[in-house]
Amino acid sequence: MRRKEMTMDSKVMRRLSYGLYVLTAKDKDSDNGCIINTAMQVTSGPDRISITVNKQNRTHDMVRASGKFNVSMISREASFDLFKTFGFQSGKNVNKFETFKDCDRAANGVLYISGQTNGFLSGSVIREIDLGTHTLFIADVTDGKVLSESPSVTYEYYQKNIKPAPEKKKTGYVCRICGYIYEGEPLPEDFICPWCRHGAADFEKL
Ligand code: FE
Repeated sequence: MRRKEMTMDSKVMRRLSYGLYVLTAKDKDSDNGCIINTAMQVTSGPDRISITVNKQNRTHDMVRASGKFNVSMISREASFDLFKTFGFQSGKNVNKFETFKDCDRAANGVLYISGQTNGFLSGSVIREIDLGTHTLFIADVTDGKVLSESPSVTYEYYQKNIKPAPEKKKTGYVCRICGYIYEGEPLPEDFICPWCRHGAADFEKL
């Protein structure tokens, strides 16, 4: 039998459904958080979740070092500002909690996001797997709280209802992940999105 060359449409990967969450962690003297779309329950009894975090995020290093984190589930009441605060800047350059006050400290000592979210979970890492660009953490759920009845935001809902539409008539490339626009031609192959840290493969021509 002749095998066809693999010509997978990369768009098919976007048929997977994701939620959006603020992952928070801390070190000795500071707090940080970032947006992730990779949190899920992996077992119940005991309740365990997994998260996957880009190694370039400062929060990643904090989770690795402390073994503790919170995941706050973003609700449909969230504004684009929440995504800008936690998704489009790096904790390596700014203190994201300097001006952001919709937060509280959970029993594990880590902040969680108390507004624009509908709940949070505290995780205690029991295993980590190196995935190259990311680390997969598996954690026991040690605490959690329902914060509102507003439905959770999915990645699709964010793209359709929260993310501002890209401006028309610009030439360049738009980041499919966060909406950042690179103006110019061509897009450098090694380009990294300054907002969400995804690479050139996640950009499409305007
Ligand atoms: Fe981006």
